[in-house]
Amino acid sequence: EVKAAGRDGYRLYRPAMLDAVKGEKALEAELRHAITAREFELHYQPILDVGTRSVHTAEALVRWRHPVRGLVAPDRFIALAERTGLIQPLSEWIIEQACLDAVSWPPSVQLAVNVSATQFKRGNLFDVVMRALLRSGLNPQRLQIEVTETVLLEQQSEQLQTFRRLKAMGATLVLDDFGTGFSSASYLTNFPFDKIKIDKSFIQGLQSRECAAVIASAVVLAKGLGISVTAEGIETESQFEDVRALGIDFAQGYLFGRPVPCNEFVRAPVFRDDLNRVCRTGTFGGG
Ligand code: C2E
Ligand code: MG
Ligand code: MG
Ligand code: MG
Repeated sequence: EVKAAGRDGYRLYRPAMLDAVKGEKALEAELRHAITAREFELHYQPILDVGTRSVHTAEALVRWRHPVRGLVAPDRFIALAERTGLIQPLSEWIIEQACLDAVSWPPSVQLAVNVSATQFKRGNLFDVVMRALLRSGLNPQRLQIEVTETVLLEQQSEQLQTFRRLKAMGATLVLDDFGTGFSSASYLTNFPFDKIKIDKSFIQGLQSRECAAVIASAVVLAKGLGISVTAEGIETESQFEDVRALGIDFAQGYLFGRPVPCNEFVRAPVFRDDLNRVCRTGTFGGG
């Protein structure tokens, strides 16, 4: 699947067979080279407050600007980076660059970053986040950490400790891809999440009674626990109307904006004129 993204025709390369084309070792070498060659960049996608229809958050999504393949999507290299340990330097750069970008936005706009399971296992996520906040000067209250359910399957007590420290610092904890894991409900009672993001597969399947039921019960569950709800992957007005009727608080999807580079993000029509500022360029290790 190759899809266009953004006005300038950014294209994401998502070949199903990329891993099969080259051996794991060759790909690892390529990824390692990409890190030193600064071939990564961050794109930002808006998350809207449903009540005000204004931009509440920008989610940072990493891309690999490959010299031959063009823009490579994260699902083509994040897993490899995790297996090889390269996720460590890569995500240190991601978190710091995202914080550096976000300090130039209006303070009302929050920053959401995705974190990897490996960073919880290595146990230094808190230090990485702390360093990024100190170097950038970003208020921790503006930072959201998105984790997927699979992160939580192992080493629960260590993760809980990291979560508590991040929250004590002022950051918001988000459970990403809600509904795709094995025991979403128990994660909400066992971990101190502030927010859930209902996986886009349920929004894309909204026509079916089953998907609507999952979203509706997720909203009831979250509300009962004092947790707010984001719906991701909203592509049409009709999907937006449906999830609004089901009571979600925040909305994200191509309907409102695709992920775009920082300088383009701040120029997007969803921002007012006075939000129009120049960002530092997001190249790997840059600055
Ligand atoms: P995610 O965190 O659940 O991000 C949402 C994905 O859905 C993004 O794909 C986004 O571009 C896509 N999306 C947003 N709106 C729509 C829509 O309306 N329709 C459709 N069809 N898709 C939509 P992307 O950027 O390819 O990222 C895929 C996954 O890669 C992310 O899922 C996240 O798990 C991971 N990822 C991305 N950036 C990072 C990163 O910096 N660090 C780590 N550890 N993982 C990342
Ligand atoms: Mg996410
Ligand atoms: Mg998600
Ligand atoms: Mg995901």
